Amino acid sequence: MCSGRLDMAHILRAFAKGADGVFIGGCRLGECNYITHGNYHAMNLASLCKKIFEHIGLNPQRLQIALMSGGEGNLFATVTDDFCKTIKELGPIGQAGEIAPTQLGVALAEVTRLVPYIKIAKHAKLTARLGDTADYEDHFSLEEIERLLSEVASYYIDPEKCKACMICSKSCPVEAIEGGKNLIHIIDQDKCIKCGTCLNACPSRFGAIAKIVGGPVPPPLPVEKRTILRSDSKANKKNTSTERALP
Ligand code: SF4
Ligand code: SF4
Repeated sequence: MCSGRLDMAHILRAFAKGADGVFIGGCRLGECNYITHGNYHAMNLASLCKKIFEHIGLNPQRLQIALMSGGEGNLFATVTDDFCKTIKELGPIGQAGEIAPTQLGVALAEVTRLVPYIKIAKHAKLTARLGDTADYEDHFSLEEIERLLSEVASYYIDPEKCKACMICSKSCPVEAIEGGKNLIHIIDQDKCIKCGTCLNACPSRFGAIAKIVGGPVPPPLPVEKRTILRSDSKANKKNTSTERALP
């Protein structure tokens, strides 16, 4: 497939399924046959993934991207041979001072859950077009990735402010918001992928969703306390108009 179709989740999944190395091939920068120039995107993603791997304790040499034209079969053979040699020297994951395979699965699952958050937070850099492949070496820094992952936000619905308008639950891409008509909504923190969509979706006049960084998220309201009793319900409106009609 085109390298522009590459997603972080593909790379993470390959390692989660036991690959000892992942090689990505793409067209040379500036030589894309389409207007998308997805090879820049692939270079950015690979650069980001390498730093994330460094952060979690996976040798970044296990991921390699190389760009070449369709006519450079010899180059393809050389770079893939070299990559195979590198992986053989490194051995199976967990050797050479790396994270243990049992812990790697947990770490990769956590990063995979944060892919939407990472993509949003690093959108500008992930869509950048650097002039030369060498420029990608330091496109992301380890400090930057450590900060990014330590600043992961959680989202919380304030039960005092929620008006059960249901806008947030309709906008959540992973159905992490539980609620319904006349029910105060809550966020299932285990399902939430930290995309922040709900924060922007909640009407500003309600402002019921808070972004929490570096602190605990309050526990969700118990089910039995989530029902909102409307003062403007149909029955009440009828009563009001009757009352007003009375002499
Ligand atoms: S941040 Fe909000 S919209 Fe995004 S996944 Fe979490 S609950 Fe859903
Ligand atoms: S959009 Fe805001 S007010 Fe509406 S249900 Fe969600 S949290 Fe509550």
